[in-house]
Amino acid sequence: MCNCGQRPVLKSSKTTENPGHRFWGCAYYDVGKGCNFFAWADVEPQAQEVEVLRLRMRISTLKTKLAYVKIQLLLAVTFGVIGWIVVLILCYRVYSLLDNRGKMKELGGEDIVLLG
Ligand SMILES: [Zn+2]
Repeated sequence: MCNCGQRPVLKSSKTTENPGHRFWGCAYYDVGKGCNFFAWADVEPQAQEVEVLRLRMRISTLKTKLAYVKIQLLLAVTFGVIGWIVVLILCYRVYSLLDNRGKMKELGGEDIVLLG
């Protein structure tokens, strides 16, 4: 932000001392209304590159973490589904055992105490 609260614009220097050197200047400077905001855009290209590399590494770290969390979520969902299937199978087995017990009773067989 420059002194008048505007986003600075990237310009090219036309002075003889720094021809083509890029800088950030006030958006209104050319029309004579702006402030004197000034900052070289390429003062420390090495520092900027280091920053870019650092951010790229951070992005790849985050991507790795995201992939890891996605796998965990997938595993949790899979185990959850398997868990429910097991619960349903067990419910069905308990039901069919109780059903058999009822049939045996109907046929005059001994009552088997399954539960309690
Ligand atoms: Zn300004």
